[in-house]
Amino acid sequence: VTDRHLERIERAARGAAEQRLDALVVSPSRDLAYLTGYDPMPLERPTFLVIRPGAEPAMLVPELERRLAAASSVGDRLELRAWRDGSDPYEAAAGLLAGATRIAVADALWAVHLLGLQRRLPEATFSTASPVLGRLRAVKDRDELEALRRAGRAADETFRRIVELPFPGRREEEVAGDLADLLVQHGHTKAAFTIVASGANAASPHHEPGGRTILPHDAVVMDFGGELGGYFSDTTRTVVVGEPPPGFEEAYSAVQAAQAAAVDAVRPGIAAQDIDRTARAIVDAAGYGDRFIHRTGHGIGLEVHEPPYIVEGDETPLEPGMTFSVEPGIYLEGRFGIRIEDIVTVTSDGVDRLNRSPRDLKVVI
Ligand code: ZN
Ligand code: ZN
Ligand code: ZN
Repeated sequence: VTDRHLERIERAARGAAEQRLDALVVSPSRDLAYLTGYDPMPLERPTFLVIRPGAEPAMLVPELERRLAAASSVGDRLELRAWRDGSDPYEAAAGLLAGATRIAVADALWAVHLLGLQRRLPEATFSTASPVLGRLRAVKDRDELEALRRAGRAADETFRRIVELPFPGRREEEVAGDLADLLVQHGHTKAAFTIVASGANAASPHHEPGGRTILPHDAVVMDFGGELGGYFSDTTRTVVVGEPPPGFEEAYSAVQAAQAAAVDAVRPGIAAQDIDRTARAIVDAAGYGDRFIHRTGHGIGLEVHEPPYIVEGDETPLEPGMTFSVEPGIYLEGRFGIRIEDIVTVTSDGVDRLNRSPRDLKVVI
């Protein structure tokens, strides 16, 4: 636990108090890594960080991981309590949660652990901690933004190189393999996902790249990202092999205009859902409204998808440091798909793009 982590734990405790919660319970997950720097594997033996407003944070660990936890960044700064195999860890946790009636648990806490806590704390009500932890994590600090910028640049370089390679005659999975290699060559620790969707396959936004051979006149959606220093990149470009299929250019223009307008609308104070409305209005006006079949974007950081969500119903007021994707798309069954995605960050008076690959239609050969 560094001072940065202690400060995050304090802010989480303040957030819990504001929500009139008596305790937050966090198990191994991105939330725990964010709060403490301790990042063990989530397992059936529970590890619980317990944060209570006005009290010292404590962490309950399995006895066999006590040394691991003590030697880690949490060891010197958090009160560690261990439970042994053969005893009931939920009883031990209930000891740390004595008197708490409003308890929020991290989203990624396993159901089996929540059920165990509920059994031992029948008087307590449980909710999700994302109103506290999601809000904290949504606003990136300087170091987090630097990691996200580096990941974004590495993804841009990956796109610059992939379009220099041949497309027609190669299988989607071969291009996906090249994307994964390029992500790592340009600085990612590892590739996280490489969607390559060609021809009619591109009408499925999360298509799994397979054995289809890319053909002339195909549109090819490439949506790829990797992890760099714990933070993710995520960008999409749609290219076309030679002459585009009928109706493609008009739809592409609508997606490009929607993406540009949505990015331009980003500024502090505007609601997340308003960015979605901006993109959707343009796609609607072009006549493809019902073929824009997903939200406009998602926050990104220690996870590829995290709050805020750029979607109708997410009224989160944007704040400087919030970082998310803007990725409208149009998907025409049996014909083609189009998506353009950049990561952007909210600045003190507007927006900054973390991806700068060209967005004009790229013809590949
Ligand atoms: Zn997606
Ligand atoms: Zn993506
Ligand atoms: Zn995305």
